[in-house]
Amino acid sequence: NLQDRLGGILDKLRGRGALSEADVGEAMREVRRALLEADVALDVVRGFTDRVRERAVGAEVLKSVKPGQMVVKIVHDELVATLGSDAQSISLAAAAPVPILMVGLQGSGKTTTTAKIAKRMQDRDKRKVLMASLDTRRPAAMEQLAILGTQVGVATLPIVAGQSAVQIAQRAMQAGRLGGYDVVMLDTAGRTTVDEALMAEAAEVKRVANPHEILLVADALTGQDAVQTARAFDGALGVTGIVLTRVDGDGRGGAALSMRAVTGKPIKLIGVGEKMDALEEFDPSRIAGRILGMGDVVALVERAAEQMDAEKAAKTAERMRKGQFDLNDLRDQLMQMQRMGGMSGVMGLLPGMGKMKAQLENANLDDRVLKRQTAIIGSMTAAERRNPDLLKNSRKKRIAAGSGTKVEDINRLLKMHRQMADMMKLMGKGGRGGLASMAGK
Ligand code: GDP
Ligand code: MG
Repeated sequence: NLQDRLGGILDKLRGRGALSEADVGEAMREVRRALLEADVALDVVRGFTDRVRERAVGAEVLKSVKPGQMVVKIVHDELVATLGSDAQSISLAAAAPVPILMVGLQGSGKTTTTAKIAKRMQDRDKRKVLMASLDTRRPAAMEQLAILGTQVGVATLPIVAGQSAVQIAQRAMQAGRLGGYDVVMLDTAGRTTVDEALMAEAAEVKRVANPHEILLVADALTGQDAVQTARAFDGALGVTGIVLTRVDGDGRGGAALSMRAVTGKPIKLIGVGEKMDALEEFDPSRIAGRILGMGDVVALVERAAEQMDAEKAAKTAERMRKGQFDLNDLRDQLMQMQRMGGMSGVMGLLPGMGKMKAQLENANLDDRVLKRQTAIIGSMTAAERRNPDLLKNSRKKRIAAGSGTKVEDINRLLKMHRQMADMMKLMGKGGRGGLASMAGK
């Protein structure tokens, strides 16, 4: 994967300070190859590598990371920026019934996605949704939507034979108004290619229904073709967002990057399976990770490993397993957490840490608290850190004065330490050594 390849090239640069033009140039050839393999469109790749190069040349390599990791980080950040760093959901900020038009090539997953979105809006957002199929080309298409509607419990417009797509759209909007619906979803006819007549029909539907969102449904597996399709649909209709389907079968993630870069339109949702609940919010950093060839947890552990001396981590893990988790260890953990950008995000990503996360949340552990607790431990003597039982009232008062805190704060910290130590012991018995051992692996 790209991570390894960049590492190989750039590891030899260790200790040279800033990244030179030549170093970056070599790295960019690998990035380019990896992106093309991930099925990213060529012109997108060019623009992308140019931007990364600009940011990377002259960038200082942090002392604790390898140059390869530094470049990977820059590539990752640029991927996220290109994919759109802020998640965008479907907008319903319009007068009800809010019309949503679904467009895309035949077989891209329009009908399925229409039902998935309708189900989600109804179940999760408590909106009353009406779906209508405007697919007059294939009689079975209308039935398909009706069947899905029954399956997910969403109303569909009754099928009337002989009506045009435009007539159905008008009837759907009227039924939406009369029936007190919040949202009317219009599923359009399939096209096998971008064809003039069907585009004209879609434009006419757009005129009569005045959709608040026009969502282009595109199949991630079609890669380059999906990008051309997106360009054509956007040109003819002006799409407001993209839903990328079959992301479950796409290990490469390149289509998302191309789609976004070419159309500039946000990817609002992704389809990850045939089932009606296989619909997810689009997460740029996850797709970026996929393109780079690393999973979420992998990335996290690597981040942790970079920051924590592996040997020390292994030692801490061993101590934890034996139930020897003292306040020195707690301080290491607290500082580690601060470096990793706070607790809440970090813990949630690690398997097996859910329980501990809940405990830490109980302890109300935001970053401010982390700093305070680190300060408290800093005011203790070495003996006190090793053996918290020494901490009677007079010592607590001294520590409180030294760290600018109150005795209650110290009690809270000690309580949390006890809970964590118990937790560690339990996890040790179960064969898990907690955060540090994961980082040390
Ligand atoms: P349409 O012609 O655009 O309306 O496409 P359909 O909604 O009929 O979908 C075509 C096929 O793709 C169906 O068999 C769907 O179950 C399948 N499909 C749709 N979305 C996804 C997805 O996200 N993942 C997978 N694996 N299959 C999907
Ligand atoms: Mg369909």
